[in-house]
Amino acid sequence: MRMQERTCPLCRRGSVDVWLEQKFDPARLDRFAFASRKLPELMRFPLALCGSCDLVFAQRIPDSEWISAGYREAAFDAGIESVFAAEAYAAELSRLLPISAPQRSALDIGAGDGAFLAQLLKLGYSNVVGVEPSMEPVTRAAPEIQPLLRNEFFDPEKFPPESFDLVTCFQTLEHVEAPLDLCRSAYRLLRPGGLLLVADHDFRAWPARLLGERSPIYDLEHLQLFSRRSLTYLYATAGFGDVVVRPLRNTYPLSYWAKLMPLPVRFKRVLLNRLTGSHIGQWRLSGRMGNLIAFGTRK
Ligand SMILES: [Zn+2]
Repeated sequence: MRMQERTCPLCRRGSVDVWLEQKFDPARLDRFAFASRKLPELMRFPLALCGSCDLVFAQRIPDSEWISAGYREAAFDAGIESVFAAEAYAAELSRLLPISAPQRSALDIGAGDGAFLAQLLKLGYSNVVGVEPSMEPVTRAAPEIQPLLRNEFFDPEKFPPESFDLVTCFQTLEHVEAPLDLCRSAYRLLRPGGLLLVADHDFRAWPARLLGERSPIYDLEHLQLFSRRSLTYLYATAGFGDVVVRPLRNTYPLSYWAKLMPLPVRFKRVLLNRLTGSHIGQWRLSGRMGNLIAFGTRK
């Protein structure tokens, strides 16, 4: 694995401060390092805070080929949780429909098992497509959703400009090497009046502040982490208007919250075994758990 140095991938300037020191043991890397919603293993590349745009980013990361290979092979263990997340995003989107373009075509970048594509069809979108580089979530997609998924990395050249009314990107901007390029591409792919809807972790929200370096958001797979300020900056720099960034309300079963808690791994496995399949484990809790939802329109 070769490593590459990075400056702030958002504003590319600004003085940086150390945010968290590197904590990285290659021997502990397994197939789950690049899977979404997995058991956190608390490793990270050296993280810096950009003084200009308020982005936390990894200053030294492996070369692009190593990262790409990791995503293609990443294991996927998030079936039920992906449905709950997709429902939360759909609830946000349905509130925006009166102010957005007609519900015709939508692109979901980092679509996972396509849970949100199913929500889009329910909301009346007729032409939906998802892009997902990992193989496993695509093979696990529901049979009626699988044909809507492209198992590849997002490449804007594969879509005509101004061809979508909606582009969505959930818990994905943290993972890409060039988040600003992705947003600029989304802008070009949207029709005027079209909407970009994004959800991300917020490193300044209370769960991350409370847990400090034990927060599951500090992780090898997250090449950068946003706050309200840096996410607003991202939208504005990519050209979007009417930008709104605010906390997202998530609803998940108790067993999922337990999975994210900073507990010793062995204790957590026992707890999860007890909760999974039990009545209490299915209790639904909702709250502002440290995620942001953002939207803006193409001018
Ligand atoms: Zn910056």
